Amino acid sequence: MKVGVPRTLFYYAYSPFICSFFEELGVEVVVSELTSKKIIDEGVEDAVSDACVPIKLFHGHVKNLLNKVDFVLVPRLVSVNDESTFCPKFLGLPDMLESSLPDFDNMLEVRVDTKGKRSELFKTCLKTAGTLGIGFFKTLRAFNKALKNYEEYKRKFREGTIPYLGVESRDKNSDVIIGVVGYPYILYDSYLSLDIIKKLISMGCHVVTPEMLAEEEKRREDLKLRKLLFWTFSNGVLRASYNFIRENKVDGIIHVTAFGCGPDFIVDKLLELECKEKNVPFLTVTLDEHTGQEGVNTRLEAFVDMIRIKKARKEAAVS
Ligand code: SF4
Repeated sequence: MKVGVPRTLFYYAYSPFICSFFEELGVEVVVSELTSKKIIDEGVEDAVSDACVPIKLFHGHVKNLLNKVDFVLVPRLVSVNDESTFCPKFLGLPDMLESSLPDFDNMLEVRVDTKGKRSELFKTCLKTAGTLGIGFFKTLRAFNKALKNYEEYKRKFREGTIPYLGVESRDKNSDVIIGVVGYPYILYDSYLSLDIIKKLISMGCHVVTPEMLAEEEKRREDLKLRKLLFWTFSNGVLRASYNFIRENKVDGIIHVTAFGCGPDFIVDKLLELECKEKNVPFLTVTLDEHTGQEGVNTRLEAFVDMIRIKKARKEAAVS
């Protein structure tokens, strides 16, 4: 049996768990191809026109898998903790796909609403495995293995390896530290993000991202947050950014966001205000399917040059 996993959205946060789980069940996992112009164009063709680019992309990745697998995984991510839910577009993903792709008849819909409880996650896995005709003990073994794999993946990230891009976040000559913040399915998709992280590393920057912080470090910011937001990924971005700024871990912050993203209207404004208050250079890069590489490169170069000049002036003033 083959299960297709679209290489976007939940993939860039949970694939080490998901892929390992299915593989341990003895199911072949087929991940859609890397994002390309063809996949974006195919997604744009069918998605509702006012959707953000990651959602359009999801349609393209599903189409990329349709005739290659028995089922295509489409999770309905509701909650993975007891404080927030996912963005409404994650909640309505299976419905959106059903309406936009009427011929999509092999969807493996999985509702994930664990509220942070491991037992609920196991129940979800058990139900999914049951759909594929797999029993309790095999599922339990696969579940434990998948959890272990997921912990290992998070550890690597915290040590500075970016698994999806195959790079280390620090070049040995780095002289500037940039916090690159945004949703994982934007930051770590090379095509969609126009390889912003790799570009910064090649410019001699040390890049830090939200996934490089342990959950406890992010939560240390909670007391200082004016308000928690409703959405899980948005809170992750806010907490990490506040930590970078308030503990002086970065020389500047770049917020990478998707055009038309509702939650990011709030996140971006809060980050802008925080950076202004703490005098930390801040840049927003908004991406959609038409954004050009050259324009983004120029903005990144100008931002990094400005930080280097600022640092040099500060050092000169001290000496
Ligand atoms: S959080 Fe924003 S970018 Fe992500 S799916 Fe929702 S609207 Fe799209």
